[in-house]
Amino acid sequence: MPDEMKLLLQAGEIARKVKSEVIKLIKPGASLYEIAEFVENRITELGGKPAFPCNLSINEIAAHYTPYKGDKTVLSEGDYIKIDLGVHVDGYIADTALTVRVGMDEDDLMEASREALENAIATVRSGIQIREIGRVIEDTIRGKGFNPIVNLSGHKIERYKLHAGISVPNVYRAADTYVLKEGDVIAIEPFATTGAGQVIEVPPALIYMFVKNKPVRMPQARKLLNYIKTNYSTLPFAYRWLQKLMPDAQLKLALLQLDRAGAIYSYNILKEIRGGLVSQFEHTVIVEKDGAQITT
Ligand code: MN
Ligand code: MN
Repeated sequence: MPDEMKLLLQAGEIARKVKSEVIKLIKPGASLYEIAEFVENRITELGGKPAFPCNLSINEIAAHYTPYKGDKTVLSEGDYIKIDLGVHVDGYIADTALTVRVGMDEDDLMEASREALENAIATVRSGIQIREIGRVIEDTIRGKGFNPIVNLSGHKIERYKLHAGISVPNVYRAADTYVLKEGDVIAIEPFATTGAGQVIEVPPALIYMFVKNKPVRMPQARKLLNYIKTNYSTLPFAYRWLQKLMPDAQLKLALLQLDRAGAIYSYNILKEIRGGLVSQFEHTVIVEKDGAQITT
């Protein structure tokens, strides 16, 4: 087995283990801050690194919420919580997500995204066009009476690159003609909603990404940019991960300057446009000649 494959499977194994552990923490009253810290600490203890901040998105929030230090958000019975976590080992990334309904069993909305993922994975093999995955996901979710979220998608993954240029759509679009080849690594992540099937960006941004080096005047912003370049040069990072560096007021100002200068990109929270409930499941798979190997 090539070394890259071994490292990717190792990342996947860590992700799987952390998923199985974090499920036990999901109950009414549990704090999002503690859940995210648990996930990221366990990833590190098991020999990986977080490939991105643990996303914990509740109900109509589809993605990109990650708690901050001082965040008082806790889970309530009946909440749909999406736990989206990423592990990398030497840059080889496993990206995976699941939805839990707090204190309750799986329902039709969760089943829709889970089955869409299973059906999509069953479709994967080298030689198919990526739009075939979109078709299967869309048909499965609509067949269960829900809407797929059209402006969220899975993605091709490369070493140290979470989004490597190609999207894995959640609906059929004629233009998605990329042909999968053996050895491609893709994350497939169907989102099902009771809403319209679209997300919009809402503040605040709690996740960021380094873009490029830019001159900035404020000394704290310069210091922060150096820290970001050293530690998070290719993968997304959390506001929470920076809170130890300086007081919140300074940090917010420095991040704002870096964003305005084009040195970093800010990911806003993604909310369903009509406030619909959202469920998501995700696996990272390796494309094979006649199928797919699930890593997570
Ligand atoms: Mn993910
Ligand atoms: Mn993903």
